[in-house]
Amino acid sequence: MVETRETRETRDITEEVRRVVKASGVRDGLCHVMVLHATAAVVVNENDDPNIGVDLVDALERLVPKGGGWLHDRVDGNAHAHIQAAILGPSETVPIDEGDLQLGTWQGIMLVELEGPRRRRLVVRIVEA
Ligand code: ZN
Repeated sequence: MVETRETRETRDITEEVRRVVKASGVRDGLCHVMVLHATAAVVVNENDDPNIGVDLVDALERLVPKGGGWLHDRVDGNAHAHIQAAILGPSETVPIDEGDLQLGTWQGIMLVELEGPRRRRLVVRIVEA
């Protein structure tokens, strides 16, 4: 469970996921991370400059603006968040090498909140391979 703080934000969840990988004891395999919501996403991206996360949600808002005349807005007014989440996707799969996440130097696993703040449920599955 991750509690987001803003309407739109990018949160680095790499260390939380890494703890699950280490606890699993798996040395080589795959780690799948999925958020169980239709207005949030999981991506692998730059983890050093937090402005990238701000730029990402800003770019999505420019691409798919809130109140842009979307059909689903007649239901609950959050079509933009659903479309933005669909563009990014709900999950990522990261290799496990020598018992740890295999990520590039500047890569982290990010939860992208698109209609917060909310409590977001994530599932982490480890597969030995
Ligand atoms: Zn909706």
